Amino acid sequence: MIFDTHIHLNDKKLFDNLDSLLQSAKEKGVTHFLCVGWDLESSKLAIKIAEKYENVYCAIGVIPTEHKQYRLKNESNPTIKELEDLISTSKKIKAIGEIGLDYYWEKEDNIKAKQKEMFIEQIELANKYNLPISIHCRNAIQNTYDILKAHAVNQTGIMHCFSGSVEMAKEFIKLGYMIAFGGVLTFKNAVEIKDVIHSIPQEFIVFETDAPYLAPVPFRGNINLPEYIYETVKYASESLNLNFGEFQKISFHNSCKILHVKE
Ligand SMILES: [Zn+2]
Repeated sequence: MIFDTHIHLNDKKLFDNLDSLLQSAKEKGVTHFLCVGWDLESSKLAIKIAEKYENVYCAIGVIPTEHKQYRLKNESNPTIKELEDLISTSKKIKAIGEIGLDYYWEKEDNIKAKQKEMFIEQIELANKYNLPISIHCRNAIQNTYDILKAHAVNQTGIMHCFSGSVEMAKEFIKLGYMIAFGGVLTFKNAVEIKDVIHSIPQEFIVFETDAPYLAPVPFRGNINLPEYIYETVKYASESLNLNFGEFQKISFHNSCKILHVKE
């Protein structure tokens, strides 16, 4: 069995065909999903989807690139309060995410400062409800690490679509974070991430699609589908020289452990 720890079933590219997409995934052994929100609306939809489908769980949160719509605590109608009000509506909310820092799209200092505040507010929410977090980090790895070090998350979380050095991966692991590998792992030129998966202990490896984005080889460039995670896990097990079935069990166990899902 395979657990997709980061997927956007709430994206319109997937949402209209969920019944058949989840059925095809199941036929490939892809049975469990964390459907992740990126703003308030998509978080609400993630909850609805999780409530409807067995073994679909969800994460709610606001991604750093959505800083314009996020109202900080000291503003009227703070976004964190709206997120908090959602938590009691579903037991299938298993994480706060995706949250973090993104300096790829945003290079101005005042926006970076706001992203940090959003990140910290949502970390505090995770801690209040004892939930792990799903981290979006792009071109901001040192600042992300510094915040996680200064604002420890009780239940830690998952480094979604990790893109960093072996050294940084090991630092996040020291803090208790899982490293999530997606379709990029299968890309020919993705040398650093291949190094990472070879250099970390198996008990910190989880997988994801980030569908509809970042489809693995041989589907690279197409819309990513839930079932395609099979290719990424297979690629990883072959390159690590591990039995595919055994490796599925290990990564499935890691996913359930970090997200507090019964196996
Ligand atoms: Zn995502």
